Amino acid sequence: MSTGFYWDERCFWHAGGNYALTMPLGGLVQPMAAGGLPESPETKRRLRNLMEVTGITRDLAMSSAPPATREDLERIHPAKYLNDFKALSDAGGGELGLRTPFAKDGYEIAALSAGLAKQALADVLSGKVQNAYALSRPPGHHCLPDWPNGFCLMANIPIAIAAAQAGGKAQRVAVVDWDVHHGNGTEHIYYDRDDVLTISLHQDHNYPLDTGDVADKGRGAGEGFNINVPLPPGTGHVAYLDAMARIVIPALDRFQPDVIIVACGFDAGIYDPIAQMLCTAETFGQMTRMVKDAAARLCDGRLLLVHEGGYSEVYVPFCAHRVLEVLSGSIITAPDPMADTVAARQPSARVNEFLSGLISEMAAERGLAP
Ligand code: ZN
Repeated sequence: MSTGFYWDERCFWHAGGNYALTMPLGGLVQPMAAGGLPESPETKRRLRNLMEVTGITRDLAMSSAPPATREDLERIHPAKYLNDFKALSDAGGGELGLRTPFAKDGYEIAALSAGLAKQALADVLSGKVQNAYALSRPPGHHCLPDWPNGFCLMANIPIAIAAAQAGGKAQRVAVVDWDVHHGNGTEHIYYDRDDVLTISLHQDHNYPLDTGDVADKGRGAGEGFNINVPLPPGTGHVAYLDAMARIVIPALDRFQPDVIIVACGFDAGIYDPIAQMLCTAETFGQMTRMVKDAAARLCDGRLLLVHEGGYSEVYVPFCAHRVLEVLSGSIITAPDPMADTVAARQPSARVNEFLSGLISEMAAERGLAP
């Protein structure tokens, strides 16, 4: 069976506002020559270009998808938020939250981004494809139902899950978020529920500043169904795989999902301009291997990765290509041009030992074998 790849050129046309990285323009902040916010089309467009050049597109079922419908969106977002967003989008664009500027038609593009995730999940669940990657843009994992933040305008993954659940196609869903930032939106939406397990690996105290604590475990029926794994700046390949092996995978085994969804950011990569982790293309490949194996064992291989952050224009394409190689089993590769350099800059054994102790503590705290 095949691997689906869902994308749409239109998603690359979502335009941010007047920032240089995360700094508002004005005063002494000079506008950048290209783009503004780090969440720009370039990381995504260069991935698509790399895929064309290597030819891996021939091994994937490439398609677009219809936008999420108003009914889809209203399962997660209040009508008032959607109305305000649509009105401002029609009027030429603006800003409704924190670091989430959009231009004209931003509403339609955000609905399309969610639509890619929705269709990808539907096709994985129907068996049309074995697994899938949705190159959604704008991203979604920070978005709260009524407050966009962190470049995220609609909650792409929850919108996809809600559509699948409404159609009776899935009940138990696990979301593994390895974007370097805390998946606060996804956590918030499922905090009281036990049918969706949310796990976030993220850089400790990066973004948002007030969420992502290891003690935040869910509430009421959702108690125990939210797992945060905050890791210190400088965490690299070995400790990420360690956290996956000793926390994420055992939690998936315990939960027994019908499908696994990854909030797939690449901003834990070593060259990311707004985070301080040391992951490599191979780290992302091996994490993909681990969730793919878990999906094969737990839910007939049903696995969806939805694109989130990742802001190194030159490195994200190689990380994402590696993910697609593993996901699809394609023999077409795009070797990491920086493999030797990034391998040489990993934490020392002594630091990894310290991180291993930290991971043991977090695993034990969640009732997973230390
Ligand atoms: Zn991120």
